[in-house]
Amino acid sequence: MPGIVAHFDVSRERSIKAIEVAMMGEQKVFLVTQKDLEKEKPQIDDLYRMGILAGIKQVVKMKNGIVRILVEGEQRAELSALAQQQDYLLSEVFLIEEDAASYSEEVQEGMIRAVREAYGRYAALNPRLGSDFLRQMTELKDAGKLMDFIVSQMQVYYEEKQKYLEAVTLEERYTVLMELILREVNITSIKNEFQAKVKEQVDQNQKEYLLREQLKVIREELGEDNTESDADQFRQELKKLKAKKEVKEKIKKEIDRFEHINSNSSESAVARGYIETLLELPWDKTSKDNRDLKNAEKVLNHDHYGLEKVKERMLEFLAVQNLTSKGESPIICLVGPPGTGKTSIAKSVARALDKKYVRISLGGVRDEAEIRGHRRTYVGAMPGRIAAGLRAAGVKNPLMLLDEIDKVSSDYRGDTSSALLEVLDSEQNHSFRDHYVEIPIDLSEVMFLATANSVQEIPRPLLDRMELIEVTSYTENEKLHIAMEHLTRKQMKKNGLKKGQLSIREDALAKVIRGYTKEAGVRGLERKIGEICRKAAREIYEDNGKKVTVTKKNVSRFLGKEKYTFDMANASDEVGIARGLAWTSVGGDTLEIEVNVMPGKGEFRLTGQLGDVMKESAQAGISYIRSVSKEFKIAKDFFRENDIHIHIPEGAVPKDGPSAGITMAAAMLSAVTKRKIRADVAMTGEITLRGRVLPIGGLKEKTLAAKNAGIKTICVPKKNEKDMDEISEEIKQGLEIVYVETMEDVLKTAFV
Ligand code: ADP
Repeated sequence: MPGIVAHFDVSRERSIKAIEVAMMGEQKVFLVTQKDLEKEKPQIDDLYRMGILAGIKQVVKMKNGIVRILVEGEQRAELSALAQQQDYLLSEVFLIEEDAASYSEEVQEGMIRAVREAYGRYAALNPRLGSDFLRQMTELKDAGKLMDFIVSQMQVYYEEKQKYLEAVTLEERYTVLMELILREVNITSIKNEFQAKVKEQVDQNQKEYLLREQLKVIREELGEDNTESDADQFRQELKKLKAKKEVKEKIKKEIDRFEHINSNSSESAVARGYIETLLELPWDKTSKDNRDLKNAEKVLNHDHYGLEKVKERMLEFLAVQNLTSKGESPIICLVGPPGTGKTSIAKSVARALDKKYVRISLGGVRDEAEIRGHRRTYVGAMPGRIAAGLRAAGVKNPLMLLDEIDKVSSDYRGDTSSALLEVLDSEQNHSFRDHYVEIPIDLSEVMFLATANSVQEIPRPLLDRMELIEVTSYTENEKLHIAMEHLTRKQMKKNGLKKGQLSIREDALAKVIRGYTKEAGVRGLERKIGEICRKAAREIYEDNGKKVTVTKKNVSRFLGKEKYTFDMANASDEVGIARGLAWTSVGGDTLEIEVNVMPGKGEFRLTGQLGDVMKESAQAGISYIRSVSKEFKIAKDFFRENDIHIHIPEGAVPKDGPSAGITMAAAMLSAVTKRKIRADVAMTGEITLRGRVLPIGGLKEKTLAAKNAGIKTICVPKKNEKDMDEISEEIKQGLEIVYVETMEDVLKTAFV
């Protein structure tokens, strides 16, 4: 640029010659840029037209024939022709005059300020342009010179500078320069931004590396083992984890976060617990089912006596799975009284299918969070029972037993049953959301089994999702089989007794069943057998090598006095006492209903442990009796002048339900009319106001109870006849069953 002093090296022979010639004359050269740098002998078309006329200030001859010259730019000049081309290039140029003088001072000053300001910004982004340069710039008071100076200093491609050089008037130069500066400002700030980002990354990595190295050294000094950080260990486990990509990414993120938390903070403990949980969940890990039907049947039969329906259903399920290769697991709910083997058959189903088994006890679960987990923001948050169960199973296709599903309840802490619904619903459970885990868990391959004591208590929507299989109470005979074939063996093994050391005779077991237990299932029985085993073990130990035999006669040596004498039928027929049959969660029972009639003001009293439904059915009974008072010749004022008191003794287990209706009515009528009721008759049935008898449930248990109590005849609603057909002959043997439709039928049988 004009006014700029610069030096450069010259090596082309022709150029050196040109300098020599110039030095002999006016010491001026025309400097112009070659368009293509590679051309050794450029012609006129290979050169830009606009160049600069410069004065040579100094020539220094260097080694190997290179010449270094110092020049000062003087004036723009345009190449018009190359006159001589032999030893050197002689050019004919057209000099261009500086036109700054033709602009007013204001215009020039305006340009100066604008350029300075723009350039100031550029300089701020380029800190390597020292303050020296800025000072020089402020000293230049001439717009043209200032612009030329700035261009010469800018680090831009030569094409840009050439463009500026070719701008002849001050105004053109101003436009070109400003464009150039603004573009550079933009580019530089973008560049700086990128650099800053990269630098940050590098700094962070470097810092972490340094800190980690320091930590290593510190640990070494402290004598702590330095094998691997927890985060690294987690990472290795993550590598081995079988899971979808999204899951892995989420875990990776958590590990990265964990690494940056101070390891002594409580937050770190939370993060650690979370990562451990995620790593232990079986995302995509499955176990292989054993699909051999024969084997399954063998296992099921080996473990349990009876329970045909459950076994059959399980084998059907297996067969379907084998055929379809991936059958949707049905959700089977085993319903029945405690101790009837619901839990243990579930376990043996798992064993038969070679599935992992987890039991989730739902009894008393009220809080939705127990199913679905707590959010991690809670102190001491944990995954819910389902997720925890899956973690314990270690595979995504275990058999999960939801024990006592009828015992879940909901309160202000959320709806537990709707959470369970989500678990059981095949539409939703492939992405079950646990609040703690956050990542959806796939439950679709889990085989669910549920148990319940009574259907009534199961929330309706849950009930709709499940297939019910009823497990009924065991008869004495069944209990005997179970005791002989399973429980004794199990308990002997548990107590370290070998075969041959102890034998419990069948009659002894029968006595245990009758006299020492009172239950629907066999849990108490198992406990009693356990007790016998323990006592026997002691005897054997003390008297080396002895063999213990338990018989009907010596049972009391092991178990003490008999606990239950069966609530036997009354010895004689009586007025005002009728025997009903009840069904409770522990099985069937007989219940005696007593009625007293005494002079009074027409009051009606009910005592004993009874529920509302039972009270209402007593009222219905009274209404019925009043409506038939004519037929029974009851005095008109009877109900105004007498009090009636109904009592149900031995109410340890609360009883409710309408099925004692006919019994209460019969007892009352007997008390009112003073007619005796047969002592060997028991009855069950709901009564209507008009004296019709409606069907009832729990027939098997009730029949069993009647039989045990030594009853000879039972009155059963006519509508239950078909249910009675399903009950095994073993139970019905020796019982006379009278089907009743109306209260009249009942009285015909019951009254002496
Ligand atoms: P539930 O879950 O119905 O309350 P459990 O499964 O806990 O009952 O059963 C109690 C005990 O009785 C267990 O030891 C079980 O093995 C045993 N048991 C129950 N029914 C049978 C049966 N049919 N055959 C063999 N053992 C049985």
